Amino acid sequence: MTTAIAFENVSKSYTVKGRPFEALRAVNLTVEKGEIFGIVGFSGAGKSTLLRTVNALERPTSGRVVVDGREISALQGRDLYAARQRIGMVFQQFNLLESRNVYKNIAYPLRLAGLSAEETLDRVEELLSFVGLADKALAYPSQLSGGQKQRVGIARALATRPDVLISDEATSALDPQTTGEVLDLLRRVNEEYGVTILLVTHEIDVVRELADKVAVMENGEVVEQGSIYDVFSSPRHPTTRRFVSSVLHHVPSTEALEKIRAVHHGRLVQLHVEDRETNHPFLSQVAREHGVDFNVVFGGVDELQGRLFGSLTVELLGTDTAIDAAIEGLRRTATVSEISAAPEREVAHA
Ligand code: ADP
Ligand code: MG
Repeated sequence: MTTAIAFENVSKSYTVKGRPFEALRAVNLTVEKGEIFGIVGFSGAGKSTLLRTVNALERPTSGRVVVDGREISALQGRDLYAARQRIGMVFQQFNLLESRNVYKNIAYPLRLAGLSAEETLDRVEELLSFVGLADKALAYPSQLSGGQKQRVGIARALATRPDVLISDEATSALDPQTTGEVLDLLRRVNEEYGVTILLVTHEIDVVRELADKVAVMENGEVVEQGSIYDVFSSPRHPTTRRFVSSVLHHVPSTEALEKIRAVHHGRLVQLHVEDRETNHPFLSQVAREHGVDFNVVFGGVDELQGRLFGSLTVELLGTDTAIDAAIEGLRRTATVSEISAAPEREVAHA
């Protein structure tokens, strides 16, 4: 694999009310060619600042941003202009010229790049048909829905045949149905044109739908990164856990656990299972072998990138010795952690 974008120790500080403020802190990330890479984080995490270093709309205070082998953060003038033509950008608020029709919005970067009127016409027609707006060439932005506007934004970003597309919350202003359509379009951009996509979003679902890899940002730092499967199936950082648990309801919240405890008085364990383990009925086998009963009280199993994973909260009923042995048995197949009794219960028993 070759590298499309490399962030090397990228830091950015601003002066806010006379004091230094670190918007990016030593970010290191590598995006491979052909990949869809998602960066997720809450508002203010530094996502837009980081994304804007890719086409040098922002320059790092220290560190380097290398795009297609060239340090974009060091380019100026004509070299920077040429490098920017290889990078398309999509915005949350579409950034269309309201006074120009769809055709002219998409043609704009092409005329700037020096294409003839005829070449421009061919290219714009091709792009309009690719994004499914062949009949909207003469419409004005105000006559389009949000989803249609973003299709125009994507067509414009692709006009100069970039290798890389950067997307800043491209679907955050859209409803869920339209979001799905725009994500499908971005997937086609990646698959049919081979364009590398780096997208930032505060919506973890967008990353789950579209990306191959994900990085989680907080306070200007990357706190976790990996493949979508690894990060979603075993999130480590608390912020990642928050994001993942907002879309995957495998693990009970503290409140849900309290309700479970009110009804289920046996010992509770959390079983974390991955696809390689789910092909034999290990739960009932272990229960039978050790003479314990089990009760699934919470959980979920999901599929990501063709692989299964999930987490089950199980109540085990039997003697303590039998349950201890059963937990050992379960550990041969799943990652098991016992959920200790609620503190107030422990106090009550003491
Ligand atoms: P995100 O896109 O993750 O919401 P941003 O990259 O927009 O985050 O902003 C990260 C932090 O940097 C925020 O606290 C923001 O206020 C600050 N920031 C961004 N741009 C500037 C600027 N030009 N001057 C001062 N602070 C800025
Ligand atoms: Mg932002």
